[in-house]
Amino acid sequence: MNGKNGAVSARQGAKLSSCWCGETAGTDSRHPAYVVCPACGTARLRDVAARGQGVVNGETGIYSADYWGRHQEEDLGLPSIEERAVNDLPERCMHWLSLLLRHVLPPACVLDIGCGHGGFVKLCKMAGFQSTGIEMAAEIVRFAQDAFGVEVRRGPLADLDLHFGAQHLGVCMFDVLEHLPDPLAQVQDLLQRGTGRVTLIVQTPEFTDSMSDSMFAVPEHINLFTRRAVSEMLGRAGFAHVEFAESCFQDDVTAVASNMPIRQNTEAAVAEALLATGDGRVLNATRTLAARLGQVKARNHLIEDGDGLGISWSFRQLLRGLRRRLFPH
Ligand SMILES: [Zn+2]
Repeated sequence: MNGKNGAVSARQGAKLSSCWCGETAGTDSRHPAYVVCPACGTARLRDVAARGQGVVNGETGIYSADYWGRHQEEDLGLPSIEERAVNDLPERCMHWLSLLLRHVLPPACVLDIGCGHGGFVKLCKMAGFQSTGIEMAAEIVRFAQDAFGVEVRRGPLADLDLHFGAQHLGVCMFDVLEHLPDPLAQVQDLLQRGTGRVTLIVQTPEFTDSMSDSMFAVPEHINLFTRRAVSEMLGRAGFAHVEFAESCFQDDVTAVASNMPIRQNTEAAVAEALLATGDGRVLNATRTLAARLGQVKARNHLIEDGDGLGISWSFRQLLRGLRRRLFPH
């Protein structure tokens, strides 16, 4: 029911949910199931009952093994967990690892909340971190343990007696924040898990006018945050330092937050930390290879895009000929 200024106090027959920030009002969004918070800009599921469906029950709730199996494959047309356990590693998992290493160095502890198949937990372990994953369904926990031989605990985190003492704790929440019924409380909880520096890396869909409609995922995506809302929530949770980082995917926002000034590790410091172990050395070689491939790709792109640089047509032909000779395949 629309009130003054388009504000929605409640829909007939349904109780309007409150925002994580405490705001009770909401205005219509471009999706009928979501309202926008006038205070912080977050889009949230309008209906309290629909939010209840996101209850975190690993065996029968939406994050059961069925979520990773039938729901992801049949309802959303996404790859199976087996395929993702292969294809995510050179793609998003390597991106996340680079981001993590920029701010947290091994042998710190790393907690990957909502770790799915466990591939990122494995990369962290290889890098020399003491890494632990958390997943909701026993079947998915077993999958990650079997596929990658990593430590995965069955969540939710609130039920686990996990504490990391004074050691630097890195917490990763990739594609998790939008699913949480009470994100502020759950992010606050992270700061109680360590007594020293806690660095949190969050990736979540960014609510913008150009955001893909697929991000309005009912009932899984309870909250869709703006950049400002992510920053406000992390600050309110006790993370005094927040900055944004490059996302792996266009529709996402990625934030790095800490209770202490955020560290920026140099490439040399990252390489030195990786070279401390055999697995880390292999990972360092993989990163070097990826960087070299990126340079070759960028060089080819420059040649293809010669127009933008004011290079003449004949000079571009010369460069293409040279490239064919130097790189015949
Ligand atoms: Zn709000």
